[in-house]
Parts: sequence; structure tokens; C-alpha cells
Amino acid sequence: MADCIFCKIVKGEIPSSKIYEDGDFLALLDINPINPGHTLVIPKKHYVDFLDMPEPLIGTLFSRSQQIAKAVIAGVSAEGFNIGMNNRKVGGQVVFHAHVHIMPR
Ligand code: AMP
Ligand code: ZN
Repeated sequence: MADCIFCKIVKGEIPSSKIYEDGDFLALLDINPINPGHTLVIPKKHYVDFLDMPEPLIGTLFSRSQQIAKAVIAGVSAEGFNIGMNNRKVGGQVVFHAHVHIMPR
């Protein structure tokens, strides 16, 4: 989508701290982290939120998120972590391109 900040990151039009990339997904460090290592896992294709994504891609999104979380949690020596998605305006979503938060604690 033309004016989507995460689509611009996927296309390399604006910089990001990428920590993982494959054909379908990108993981980057959150620009405003709640803790060091706060990571966002995003599908490269634009989907608005969790419900907008096709079911098979949800499966892959969460298996990739698990692999990335293992590396992130080990990397920052976190004792625990939260996995989350904010969906739609009243759900706290600010960037309307689906993404999973990995938040080390
Ligand atoms: P939400 O839609 O509520 O999940 O919030 C969007 C998240 O994206 C926030 O945690 C922001 O700090 C983060 N964010 C926004 N713009 C960027 C960016 N250019 N690079 C990395 N993270 C970003
Ligand atoms: Zn987008």
C-alpha cells in the first residue's frame, strides 16, 4: 500500500533495523522499544490486521515468530517475553499493516 510505513520498509524506501528476512516475512527492531530487543515480525505483503491475513500465512507468521523470539530472547538474555498483536484502532493498532510484537522482559 502506497502510504504504509511497513510497506515502505519492505521495499527499502525507508531504513529499518532488520534482524531477519525471508521470502514472505521481515523482522525488525521496534523504533520505540518497551525493552531492548523489542521486535516486530511483519508479512511482506500488506494485510491490515490479524483477521485480514489468510489462514496458512498466520501459521507461518507464528512459526517464524517463534524462531525469531528464540534468537531475540537469547540475544538480550531476557527472563521472559510477551507476544502480541494490536488490532484496529480501539485495540491500540497504530500501524495498519499486520505485525507481531516480540517483547522481551
Ligand atoms: P501498533 O500498531 O500498536 O502495534 O504499533 C506500531 C509499532 O510500530 C509501535 O511499537 C512503533 O514503535 C513501531 N514503529 C512505528 N514505525 C516504525 C518504524 N519506522 N520502524 C520500526 N518500528 C516502528
Ligand atoms: Zn503495508
